[in-house]
Amino acid sequence: MSKFIFITGGVVSALGKGVAAASIGMLLESHGYRITLQKFDPYLNVDPGTMNPFQHGEVYVTDDGAETDLDLGHYERFTSTKTTKEHNWTAGKIYENILRKERMGEYLGKTVQVIPHVTDEIKEAFNTVADKNDIVIIEIGGTVGDIESLPFLEAIRQMRLSLGKDNTLFIHLTLVPFIKTSGELKTKPTQHSVRELQAIGIQPDIILCRTDRFLHEEIKAKISLFTNVPLEAVITAKDVDNIYEIPLIFAQERLDSIILKQLKLPQKKRRLGQWKTMVERKKNLHDEVTIALVGKYAGLQDSYMSLKQALEHAATAHLLKLNIAWIEAEDLEKKKPEDILGKADGILVPGGFGTRGIEGKIKAVTLARKRKIPYFGICLGMQCAAIEFARNIAHLQGANSSEFDTKTPHKIFFKWRELKGVQKLGGTMRLGQFLCRLQKGSFAEKAYSKANIYERHRHRYEFNPEYEEILKKAGLVISGRNPKHKLVEIIEINNHPWFLGCQFHPEFKSKPLKPHPLFKAFIGATYAYRCKRNNYKPKN
Ligand code: GLN
Repeated sequence: MSKFIFITGGVVSALGKGVAAASIGMLLESHGYRITLQKFDPYLNVDPGTMNPFQHGEVYVTDDGAETDLDLGHYERFTSTKTTKEHNWTAGKIYENILRKERMGEYLGKTVQVIPHVTDEIKEAFNTVADKNDIVIIEIGGTVGDIESLPFLEAIRQMRLSLGKDNTLFIHLTLVPFIKTSGELKTKPTQHSVRELQAIGIQPDIILCRTDRFLHEEIKAKISLFTNVPLEAVITAKDVDNIYEIPLIFAQERLDSIILKQLKLPQKKRRLGQWKTMVERKKNLHDEVTIALVGKYAGLQDSYMSLKQALEHAATAHLLKLNIAWIEAEDLEKKKPEDILGKADGILVPGGFGTRGIEGKIKAVTLARKRKIPYFGICLGMQCAAIEFARNIAHLQGANSSEFDTKTPHKIFFKWRELKGVQKLGGTMRLGQFLCRLQKGSFAEKAYSKANIYERHRHRYEFNPEYEEILKKAGLVISGRNPKHKLVEIIEINNHPWFLGCQFHPEFKSKPLKPHPLFKAFIGATYAYRCKRNNYKPKN
């Protein structure tokens, strides 16, 4: 039978509950346990697919095509778990199931209530991924005290009652702020937030204290006394520059031993060697590169979480410090692109939706192509690259995607699934993992060193096959294709140090211990470009 760890958060949001959960997963996996992680979000949207990335951050896409919370990205990066649609539940999805059952008459005339019907549905969801795993780590989104969280907290309370103390564990993440004016660490917010939990019948077993310094014994003793949590289970979750250090800090605080002891699981030989080496690499960087990331939400970096991580993984692999210049695409429309992008060692146009900023992104492509600056276009960034090529090399005036100009004379991208008869709202996207076959000798094939790859998609528009021959004749290389639907997945141009656009999102599959091949190749090219431009030999 699987054991369950429930992670709740208190005091304020954005304390890094997702990374804390992922770090715990990583540590338990390092002992040889089979683990997985699930996220429960108390909001009423059925999934984050339709939510504004400005508010909610990135939409993370799984192999099976679920549009999920960005914390699932952390789960996959820190552990070997493969997340699916069953790894992310929202109150909306839970209620959707209940209302469907109610309409089908499945409640046999009973009054449908929060307890037991909503809580039962939540408990059923906890069990969807439990098979084949020794431990399921469940992160409850939101902050304790929110009205929306209550049914979820009630469900985890019931889990303790039915499965017992040896099979369930409550971990609470709180904030222990340092007040500068008095020079003191404050435990009151933690006391209040634990009291809130206790009032609904949950006594935390472990407290993770997010703080800017290691907590000394006295403070830990005070927290222990007021919260009824054993002293050894009051853990410092110190701020770090590199999120991949967090499992090591937790290990230093003996968090894994405490968890295993409470769950009555034997301690196995912990293997953290590779992880430590990766963290150490980041402390021994030889040089740096600057990537200009031309996006729409450049102000909110959470909307590019996986992308940022994938670039970091690749830069660390090359022993390079990564600088990201966050560029608002619209600024490139008003000002000279070379003034804004001239100093970049590489230009990346990431995924995106909607018309705003498109012409700015296309200008960034022109500059990268002409100046031979390494270019990486992801999804929308690939579409911009193809449109730029069509307009300026193949001389197809007004070429565009029908997403940005419905009347364009040259529809380089069009709504493929709609033509195929997929009409259902929300069902028009190509989502999840697809096979892609690579062309020998291309940048892509050199990067992956294999012929067949699987990558994740999230887009509505596709490369129009009617323009393939024209663009190929003008010199565009089509280096990746989906064999079943014949869809164009990767484009490149020759006579350039590195210029590649892919229709999929490679950033979702990059891991700190396994940087993604395309990101690695791109960063390699940007460093070569930087050295050449500044006239020095690579330092690695
Ligand atoms: N808006 C484009 C499309 O729907 C690109 C989407 C993306 O970049 N994820 O096809």
